[in-house]
Amino acid sequence: MIRAAIFACCMMIAALTAAQAQNDAEFQRFVQSLWPEAQALGVSRKTFDDATRGLKPNLSLPDLVIPGKPKAIPKGQPEFERTPAQYLSEASLVRLTEQGRKLAAQHRATLASIEQRFGVPPSVVLAIWGRETNFGNFKLPHNAIDVLATQAWLGRRKEMFRGEFLLALKILEEQHVARSGMKASWAGAMGHTQFLPTDFFKYGVDFDGDGHRDIWNSIPDALASAASQLLAKGWDKGKRWGFEVRLPAGVDCSIAEPETKATVAEWIKRGFAPLTYKPTREELAEQASLFLPAGLNGPAFLTLNNFYVFKAYNFADLYALFVGNLSDRIAGGGNFATPWGKIEQARSDQIETIQRHLTETGFYRDKIDGKAGMKTRAALGAWQKANGAPLDCWPSRALAERMAARR
Ligand code: CA
Repeated sequence: MIRAAIFACCMMIAALTAAQAQNDAEFQRFVQSLWPEAQALGVSRKTFDDATRGLKPNLSLPDLVIPGKPKAIPKGQPEFERTPAQYLSEASLVRLTEQGRKLAAQHRATLASIEQRFGVPPSVVLAIWGRETNFGNFKLPHNAIDVLATQAWLGRRKEMFRGEFLLALKILEEQHVARSGMKASWAGAMGHTQFLPTDFFKYGVDFDGDGHRDIWNSIPDALASAASQLLAKGWDKGKRWGFEVRLPAGVDCSIAEPETKATVAEWIKRGFAPLTYKPTREELAEQASLFLPAGLNGPAFLTLNNFYVFKAYNFADLYALFVGNLSDRIAGGGNFATPWGKIEQARSDQIETIQRHLTETGFYRDKIDGKAGMKTRAALGAWQKANGAPLDCWPSRALAERMAARR
């Protein structure tokens, strides 16, 4: 009996080991098949071999599609899984502000040169750094080569990652960093300011002048690269990302979406009063849109072009607001004047239910992705008005259940 159990156990281990060996061999074949493309990018055989020798897939990464395994639920993004109040946690903002102000003093000269060259102020560069990797204190758990090769082999977005893997080899070829120092997130975002290899080649800067664009170890390189990316994505020098406003009574929250624009002066005339900031003359003339991250259950903002530049860095409203507020705080500002209301975050599948219902009833024409962005909230507001429901533009769980019951 015991012997039979041991035998069965040994057989299972042998089978697992054999399966893994087969996996590893298939992975190596896949990696080696990429050589011609790497060569075309100017990667030498030696760099390719050194980077891929003994390379094994990391099947524990999120977002992989593994044959024979049930489809994993895509890893969520905190920007879409937490309420605004949770994502913009006061405790973490206070902590990052304190560190950010210290680092502003420590890197004053570098940050001043970065502002001079790219027009992005120190507080904004620091806020990106703080949000992305907690000022480099977050130790990135993976190596870019391992992660990108695995994602290129079995990832849900393997075509995109294939290109990123090849460019990562080119980074090694150009000797910007050692293979072992190429730290990355599970999705291949690298270094202090979380660049994919494509971003590295588009925006990476050697700011300390040692000949290497080292976003992993050189603070000047990492911070200048972030500023260079913001500038390339349309940063408006000398202007803010936006500011908090008081809403006029009886406001229609369904107008809070990026396409409904007016000048800041016009918004103010309509009763949207700035709360903690006095816009400059240039800003008064700028086009702005209304942003209600919690619908009518929290602070309201007028957002200018630079808000969308943050969104181009990382496509999430709350990310942009976090970076905007953190930069204001580092520059001497504080918390929002209006408190967040008591709201809960609907699950992703519930948001999808809401998006489907809004699509079927003609209120929504955007992606059904389970993420409650500006367009979903605005469409929901229009639906609430048309259906005589209380108007708050917040996709709640209760509303999702009500819509699901109607289907
Ligand atoms: Ca450098």
